[in-house]
Amino acid sequence: MGTLRFSAVEKAITRHPQEVRFPAAKTSEYFGVNVFTKKKMQEYLSQEAFNSVMDAIERGTKVDRKVSNQVASGMKAWAIDKGATHYTHWFHPLTGATAEKHDAFFEPASDASVIENFDGGKLVQQEPDASSLPSGGMRNTFEARGYTAWDPSSPAYVMGSTLCIPSVYVSFKGDSLDYKTPLLKSIEAVDKAAVELCNYFDKNVTRVNVGLGCEQEYFLVDDALFNARPDLKLTDRTLMGHSSAKDQQLADHYFGYIPMRVSAFMREFEIEAYKLGIPVKTRHNEVAPNQYECAPVFEEVNLAVDHNQLLMTIMKQVAKRHNFKVLFHEKPYKDVNGSGKHCNWSLITDTGVNLFAPGKTPKTNMLFLSFFVSVIKGVYEYQDLLRSSIVSLGNEHRLGAAEAPPAIMSVFLGEEMNKVLDEIETRVSGKKMSPDEKTELKLDVGKIPEIMPDNTDRNRTSPFAFTGNRFEFRAVGSSTNVASPMTALNAIVARQLNEFRREVDTLTEKGVKKDEAIFQVIKKFIVASKKVRFDGNNYSEEWKEEAAKRGLTNIDDVLEALSAIVSDKAKSLYEEMKVFSARELHARLEIDIEKYTKKLQIEARVLGDLSINHILPTVYKYQNVLIENVKGLKELFAEKDFDKLAGTQLASIREISSRAAMVNIKVNNMIDERRKANVIEDIGEKARLYADNVRPYLDEIRYQIDHLEMIVDDELWPLPKYRELLFIR
Ligand code: ADP
Ligand code: MG
Repeated sequence: MGTLRFSAVEKAITRHPQEVRFPAAKTSEYFGVNVFTKKKMQEYLSQEAFNSVMDAIERGTKVDRKVSNQVASGMKAWAIDKGATHYTHWFHPLTGATAEKHDAFFEPASDASVIENFDGGKLVQQEPDASSLPSGGMRNTFEARGYTAWDPSSPAYVMGSTLCIPSVYVSFKGDSLDYKTPLLKSIEAVDKAAVELCNYFDKNVTRVNVGLGCEQEYFLVDDALFNARPDLKLTDRTLMGHSSAKDQQLADHYFGYIPMRVSAFMREFEIEAYKLGIPVKTRHNEVAPNQYECAPVFEEVNLAVDHNQLLMTIMKQVAKRHNFKVLFHEKPYKDVNGSGKHCNWSLITDTGVNLFAPGKTPKTNMLFLSFFVSVIKGVYEYQDLLRSSIVSLGNEHRLGAAEAPPAIMSVFLGEEMNKVLDEIETRVSGKKMSPDEKTELKLDVGKIPEIMPDNTDRNRTSPFAFTGNRFEFRAVGSSTNVASPMTALNAIVARQLNEFRREVDTLTEKGVKKDEAIFQVIKKFIVASKKVRFDGNNYSEEWKEEAAKRGLTNIDDVLEALSAIVSDKAKSLYEEMKVFSARELHARLEIDIEKYTKKLQIEARVLGDLSINHILPTVYKYQNVLIENVKGLKELFAEKDFDKLAGTQLASIREISSRAAMVNIKVNNMIDERRKANVIEDIGEKARLYADNVRPYLDEIRYQIDHLEMIVDDELWPLPKYRELLFIR
């Protein structure tokens, strides 16, 4: 598209951001203006209703029917004051996107006028006709009822002219059909387990909150160029494209100057985020050109997950106003860094103690160590389950590629913490401790510095890293609804904390003193989970070998990795923690497998279409130019000169023919493989065929096309190239 391509780029550049106006107000003046916050509730709710909602938020109690009417009426009054005309339950179905169905507040009254109506019944429960959302066979279509129910722990907000009510989504029989329901259950499980363990040390702890801060990575691409790439439009990634002569090799983008057009976009989506109470705090350039990151201050996990989903929506909306598209795909461009969403996770008591902050006194250190070793052991025991919570067709391209952690789950602790654990392991070693030794150990452990600043950035290659006062799960992909990995992590840790307590109790029942018993169990957990600790370079080949020797699993096949969710181990964990029933797990797996197959099918179709309709016609056109040229030379020159003059053109003509033929053949073979797979009923078998027999063609066809891109006249090439997509000036 030569000149066309040029003009699209030019147009993009000349659209200047200076027209965008930002409020002069300070952030604190408008932060949360569109949220039904505690303060707003106090203003719009009766004391009874307010207290009841607070109880629901803080203690998970139910809001009764009468009170829910009061809440609904206050919420409605507030929303209408804010200009809302509609309301919706906002929920997270298993498609991965969020869903909403808007209803108007107004209802006809008996005298032919209309009134604004919204009562407790409508607030608490809705029945969207959502029979097309995935359910993994848990809702028969004849009984396509799924219910959304208000989640009081995440505040309602107004977006545009709609009051949005964060909700769970469950089937008629109560099975979860969304990401939020199991997340809430996992929060309950880890809260309970953590409080019980905390009470060994401090009876005042009555609640433990999970904290989550997600670092969201994304790419920006110019709207006009995006629209000229059907693959980006339909699959969120480029299915072809030769690498740009310059991409990230100079590392000049990372933490670099943010282009004006981009910073205008960032500023505007931050303002929108603040209005919705999302505390976006940091922004910077990432490693790849046109790649960026933003991160909010961490919040309670349920809220943080809602906020992350909402933030992605806002970013997409605001991008339109700046003629950008935001790409959340884990790997939009080949051979350029992919995007992740690091999940910073911690546990914090209602007495204000971060359970992963090493602390100053030995007592809190013991508390810290108990939690610390339980997490490490959890990752070790449930490495397959953790992996299953983050794998997808998109993340498959990212994981294990040179710039992202591999599919091996290991834990980075840093030198200091490794030393502490090693010391405990060797010192207590088998024998009973003397009182002196115990004091010594306590004091030694007490020397862990409270803050370990250089721990935070030392190892970016680990999929699961301790970063001084929290754990950072880095294998998570940028497009993921992080409720999924957070549910797994919460449940795993809850289970380990319970085990920790059981072991301590067993020892104390045998007459071992509590202090001593806790030491022994800490040591036992350290020994049991030692193999999962790795501080070296996770990208290296040696680590793969070493991990295999240690017996750690390394599963880079998505389908196999996903299936860990229905293993006996996973089922027993989730059933014990009351997070998922076996039925729900099977349904989830089915949905994830289908998602995988469908996405692959779309990619294969798009690549086939582009090959046949865009690429081949273009290369033949260029080949004809060469042929004309050769014919001309033949007319003009004598035989011996001709051979010399037409050699390059003839070679290109041949290369084009052979590569074009390969594209053609492979596209046809790929179609055949799809046909064979499509008739298979069994979801798992079908996906397997897609993975094994269809997927490889995507790379093989691309390989030929990317070579053709280098031969064919730039003027004729029908798609924007990497060098254009990847740079915003
Ligand atoms: P880095 O890039 O060094 O990992 P960032 O500042 O980009 O750091 O992101 C760190 C994220 O971790 C932020 O969202 C921050 O609020 C969050 N965070 C900090 N402390 C905690 C904690 N105790 N628990 C959970 N998240 C935390
Ligand atoms: Mg980080």
